[in-house]
Amino acid sequence: MPEGMIQPVSSSQQATGPELSLPNATGLHARPAAMLVALAKKFKSSIRLQRGSDEANAKSVVSILSLATQRGDRFQVRAEGADASEAVAALSALLAEGCGEKPELQVTAPAAAVLEALPSDHAFAGVCASPGLAVGRIVQYRRAAIQVRQESGEPPHERDRLELALQQAIAQIGELRHASVDALQGGILQAHQELLQDPDLLQGAFQAIVQGQSAGVAWRAACGALAERFEAGPSALLRERANDIRDVGQRVLAVLEGSGPAPIELAPDSILVAQDLTPSDTLSLDRSRLLGFCTSTGGASSHVAILARSFGIPAICGIDVGALALEDGTLVVLDGSAGRLNGKPDAAEIALARSRMERLAASRRQEELESAAPARTRDGQRIEVVANVRNAQEAHQAVARGAEGVGLLRSEFLFEGRDTAPDEDEQAGAYLAVAQALGAQRTLVVRTLDVGGDKPLPYLVLPREDNPFLGLRGVRVSLEQPQMFRTQLRAILRASGHARLHIMFPMIATVEELREAKEILLQEQTAAGCAPVSVGVMIEVPSAALMASHLAREADFFSIGSNDLTQYTLAMDRGHARLSAKADALHPAVLKMIALACDGAREHGKWVGVCGGLAAEPMAVPVLIGLGVSELSVPVPAVPAIKALVRRLSLAECQSLAREVLTLDGAAQVRARLAPWAVN
Ligand code: PEP
Ligand code: MG
Repeated sequence: MPEGMIQPVSSSQQATGPELSLPNATGLHARPAAMLVALAKKFKSSIRLQRGSDEANAKSVVSILSLATQRGDRFQVRAEGADASEAVAALSALLAEGCGEKPELQVTAPAAAVLEALPSDHAFAGVCASPGLAVGRIVQYRRAAIQVRQESGEPPHERDRLELALQQAIAQIGELRHASVDALQGGILQAHQELLQDPDLLQGAFQAIVQGQSAGVAWRAACGALAERFEAGPSALLRERANDIRDVGQRVLAVLEGSGPAPIELAPDSILVAQDLTPSDTLSLDRSRLLGFCTSTGGASSHVAILARSFGIPAICGIDVGALALEDGTLVVLDGSAGRLNGKPDAAEIALARSRMERLAASRRQEELESAAPARTRDGQRIEVVANVRNAQEAHQAVARGAEGVGLLRSEFLFEGRDTAPDEDEQAGAYLAVAQALGAQRTLVVRTLDVGGDKPLPYLVLPREDNPFLGLRGVRVSLEQPQMFRTQLRAILRASGHARLHIMFPMIATVEELREAKEILLQEQTAAGCAPVSVGVMIEVPSAALMASHLAREADFFSIGSNDLTQYTLAMDRGHARLSAKADALHPAVLKMIALACDGAREHGKWVGVCGGLAAEPMAVPVLIGLGVSELSVPVPAVPAIKALVRRLSLAECQSLAREVLTLDGAAQVRARLAPWAVN
């Protein structure tokens, strides 16, 4: 039996998966654990995660969190029951893939501070939970304790009460989940729903009820004991999860005692200060009145920090407890980027902060006003600024922010988080909706399925690989699974005519791969009787850059995937915690690859775009344009700023700058040279 295959242990009722290394930068924290548990629950078998002599129940978030896992931990999935082999295969695949965390999403700390620290003698320090600057007035928040009924009915009655309260709490969270538009918020709420069904947590409460305690007392004690266990542990991440346990605990107690949590009252321009804020508190805040917040507990990886970043407001976690004594209504300056709250700013400090905020806001407003106009350099070079999107909703937002089209539709989002592949009609509906959001005059570049290797799908059975980044990824998976590929191509082609349709293939490494993929596309196109579409190659690996002139002969355009091109050029895993700072797309080696791609395309009159993260990095933009890139595909919120930046550049200057940086020794020198473009 080849290494890595699932091995029946003694009978067909038991199975053990291959040993896997945990890829998640911060281990299996609540969101990935919840995703794993949700999948495990689909199987009848009992399933364990084994790490050396430790093990956890794969159907319990609490049990998994208690392992305090870290990146690189070696795991095996073991199952026993009627569907043991299927369970092991599916869970092993999900674990290997990172349980829904894409490598770039796994870095939970926010980007480096972009604003200088404010000078002050009255500052309270903490860690940056979300960057940004705000001047507002303090609102202190202290959660009132819920009065819990002590007297108890018969145990079966108390158990029924608790079960009913749990169901209602799960339904409340379900409504919040339904209303949340952000994948991170949805993930946190899913983890909370899982916690409320967690066998380890429930068992503690049910046992106490049998021993004669009321539902409320039993539930509060079970949650308290678990939160204390997490808090006493050595892992900072686990300590932060204690807040999530308390949050779900409070929600159930509020239902049980009929005393829903009091809403947090905010005046306009509030800066909220609290010992802790639960994700539920945070999600229920009136965002129109909230400028930022500080908590004395938690860190950059806490869920409130993640939520603050998704709201786009400054926040500090772990702030000096002195901040809890600031009086309501005090005027303060919150510098999320520097992790500082100035509790007694003088007039000059307030004026400085306000002028900085105004400057930033004014440039954002101006950029928004001009976002609909095309982007042209001062000397007339037209640069198309388009957006990276996942669905029709984002495509609408992109158009509203001035995007001239979509330069990367990440079609894999349709395929992830489900048990079976979407069929042709479902896919066609999704692609058509994106095309219609753009309209016939705008560009739509659909990338064919980019999964496999490090991002497997549970229903896509591929052999285990020692080096998944060098294995079956991107177009290689499509060529291995031609039926799935053909279905996707037919579905994409049905959007033809509704936007200026382009199809591109990810991870092309050889001319043969391009030919094979094109041949299949041609067959489907002919069978469907549609007009030819433009075919693009993603330049993501060095061989594609080196063979650019050959590829350009047979493709209509290139789109540079700078995220992957960086990791493959520098041989540095893009999600590696220790290497990520060095895996810099502005390294001259990566820029030389881009230069090769541009030269190859130019030779055959083809255009080059960039859809990786580099396209949205202001200091990279002049270099990319100087090298010959004519399309920048960026996250939707970045569209107006990138267009504005292009308008300030001149092609001739960009070309000379590009020539210069290609001669430099390393990324640090390139960044130093490009510093004037860092903040636009
Ligand atoms: C890239 O690699 O730059 C890219 C755009 O693809 P992804 O980030 O989806 O791998
Ligand atoms: Mg890529």
